[in-house]
Amino acid sequence: MNLDPRRFDGDAGLPAITFDNSYARDLEGFYVAWKPNPAPAPRMVRLNHALADELGLDARVLAGPRGLAMLSGNEVPAGAQPLAQAYAGHQFGGFSPQLGDGRALLLGEVIDRHGRRRDIAFKGSGRTPFSRGGDGKAALGPVLREYLIGEAMHALGIPTTRALAAVATGEDIHREGLMPGAVLTRVAASHVRVGTFQYFAARDDESLVRRLADYVIARHDPGLAGQPQRYLELLRAVCERQASLLAHWMGVGFIHGVMNTDNMTISGETIDYGPCAFMEAFDPKTVFSSIDSHGRYAYGNQPGIAQWNLARLAETLLPLIDPEPERAVERATEVLGEFPARYDAHWTAVMRAKLGLDALGDAAGDRALADGYLVLLETHEVDFTLGFRRLGEAASGDERPLRDLMGAAAAAPLDAWLERWRARERAHGAAQDTRRTAMDRANPIYIPRNHRVEEALLAAVEHGDPAPFERLLAVIEDPFTERADAAGYETPAPAEVTADYRTFCGT
Ligand code: AMP
Ligand code: MG
Repeated sequence: MNLDPRRFDGDAGLPAITFDNSYARDLEGFYVAWKPNPAPAPRMVRLNHALADELGLDARVLAGPRGLAMLSGNEVPAGAQPLAQAYAGHQFGGFSPQLGDGRALLLGEVIDRHGRRRDIAFKGSGRTPFSRGGDGKAALGPVLREYLIGEAMHALGIPTTRALAAVATGEDIHREGLMPGAVLTRVAASHVRVGTFQYFAARDDESLVRRLADYVIARHDPGLAGQPQRYLELLRAVCERQASLLAHWMGVGFIHGVMNTDNMTISGETIDYGPCAFMEAFDPKTVFSSIDSHGRYAYGNQPGIAQWNLARLAETLLPLIDPEPERAVERATEVLGEFPARYDAHWTAVMRAKLGLDALGDAAGDRALADGYLVLLETHEVDFTLGFRRLGEAASGDERPLRDLMGAAAAAPLDAWLERWRARERAHGAAQDTRRTAMDRANPIYIPRNHRVEEALLAAVEHGDPAPFERLLAVIEDPFTERADAAGYETPAPAEVTADYRTFCGT
């Protein structure tokens, strides 16, 4: 006899998942219960077996016909409570009081093998009450981009939502022409955004903002529960997570592309990979997104934008921070004012690791040393990723690859910089080989190069050929280990590709 209750009321063939839906249970009024749109002819394009396992789900069942039925939205498994979340947001600086899940649904939450609560959500599952003019759908290309970049970020050690599955729906959707539609199943620490707070704050509903804050504290910062200053401390905790996240983005040259407040999580995970990309030649002004015509979300602007977004979060929390408005502003301003120093501390730590200085103890001049290297990269338009990786080779005695990469014009300033770097090493002493190993762990050799991503998406979408996507995924899943079967994946795009490279929003 099967005593699993989900097997009685549900369908015996559907994957058995133990949902525990705290958002649905605790936050009534923050969402609309809704069902996914049926997919006419679903096909599994990619299933993340390792993540399924981490979630305690049976990947073989998910890969089977009933798993496909679930991951396409055609069948809702027992225990799931699909819902569209309400949120608002500042998009490119302008406030939209009502955004919300217009093409996404939270299916439910599970507790993973490590005891962590994770959201399982769909993107591209059809219209909802928040769809406004949109069709609620997602195209296969952007779904696969999100899958790939999210997994790359995860492998790089950067907090991120992740892709559990990409399913083609069998339906063509209208974009620039007809495109195959798809559903992404996304896993997140939660989908609560700065914009979720803004939604209720904009409606002047202090009690709902408080409920949301209490929910978030219980879920993400349980240590703050019951503390008298818990809402101010929540703001501080989110600032700290975002400061760390941004420093790590910057350390791999990641450009999010749409850092709107609805695309910034409270958990500190990267979310909503739309027109994102990795920078090649180092230039803080780099923008890829076709919709970011003023460069608001350029590489070098990202930390400042994060602080701007956090100020929007702070505004929503003011009545909770202190009943006396002036005092609330003063306290929130003080916490926000710490952001640059927090970011700086994380960035310095990231750069020290990248320069192989970690084992040498702290030194006051390290930040200037790092800045000097960045000037070299910028002046000589050097690939950001390889610029650091090749420096690791120089650490173990082989300067040739670094010199070739930088070019002849950089020779003299490079010599001068290397001398400063070596002096730092001499002063504190570290074995060459351990330094190289440490640098290779901090500096990836493989990132999802833009031309490789395009090549993979084109093959998968236009020709139904999954091979380039699978190959690229296998490469970026182990970004720090140089290997023969990944030869060529470390090289930047040809200059003519980079010059015109634009990424498009995942809509
Ligand atoms: P995004 O740019 O993906 O972060 O989305 C911004 C807002 O637009 C969110 O409220 C989305 O739900 C909504 N949205 C984006 N694309 C669509 C679509 N195709 N149909 C309905 N809503 C959409
Ligand atoms: Mg979004």
